[in-house]
Amino acid sequence: RHLTKHFPVHQIGPSRTRQVVHAVEDISLALPEATVTAVVGESGSGKSTLARLLTQLIAPTSGELLLDGVPVGSSAKARREYTRLVHLVLQDPFSSLNAVHSVRYHLERPLKLHKRAGRDDLDTKARELLERVSLSPSERFIDKYPHELSGGQRQRVAIARGLAVEPRVLLADEPVSMLDVSIRLGVLNLLDELRERERLAILYVTHDIASARYLADTALVMYAGQVVESGPATQITDAPAHPYTQLLLSAAPDPARTEPPVLRGRGAPPSLVNPPSGCRFHPRCPFAMAICKEAAPPPLPVATDQVAACWLHSAEHTAPADPPTAAG
Ligand code: SF4
Ligand code: MG
Repeated sequence: RHLTKHFPVHQIGPSRTRQVVHAVEDISLALPEATVTAVVGESGSGKSTLARLLTQLIAPTSGELLLDGVPVGSSAKARREYTRLVHLVLQDPFSSLNAVHSVRYHLERPLKLHKRAGRDDLDTKARELLERVSLSPSERFIDKYPHELSGGQRQRVAIARGLAVEPRVLLADEPVSMLDVSIRLGVLNLLDELRERERLAILYVTHDIASARYLADTALVMYAGQVVESGPATQITDAPAHPYTQLLLSAAPDPARTEPPVLRGRGAPPSLVNPPSGCRFHPRCPFAMAICKEAAPPPLPVATDQVAACWLHSAEHTAPADPPTAAG
């Protein structure tokens, strides 16, 4: 609720002015069980910072985390419980697995630590974890090392290891962007299966709005540390209300691309040290009006459950007839 993160930047050199990166500004979101919520944005939009705030890896400047409505900061016990129940899946499955340890080690260790298995049933439990992520529970597979696995298998092992402690929330930060195109869909489908079968709440962080449409129930579009549009994922992609979402969509997703799309002709995302005044998108917005430079637009309802922070949707202004294009 109302999560905000400002990082101080330490200046080297004579000026010594204290500067602050406004990475995440007043974001509230809910992660209901058995749903996928996507956070979509370009690099530097603050989406990974938001995911890290949700893991407690970093502390918010203001705002709070709640688990089943109870503030997580209320006790050390609540914080520990939250840490167990909320698991972060990283972009690079190679870096999250230890090269000198086998698949078995990666799965049995959390089972032991969290006393979810006695010595006798460690092996059975580890094999069950492999089945839950559609990997072979065979002797041959469980004794393999990370370098003997494909990228997709590594990401599945990393997810299986997370499942060992029976989390309720998976935070997946660009979980498929480093994988080959041919296996991305399989990992997205696994996330969808886990959502449905294990009723996990999943936060899916991505720069790829097309994959968000494929996987997510709800989507939040982030720009320069703020949520500029949110609502049902299909609604946002079929009828985007914010000019930035329209621009993201028109920079048509190419399934073969590993890099985030470049929104050509409309400049780069702003520095978060001195974000633009008013609407932070105004320097790149084809519809910017005088008010946009002066005042930050509040979240305005545009359809059922769909909200956009853009002055075009206030009563005094009318929406444009033609959406902008990536080429401007
Ligand atoms: Fe563009 Fe103004 Fe809307 Fe911002 S508030 S997106 S500048 S029209
Ligand atoms: Mg990131």
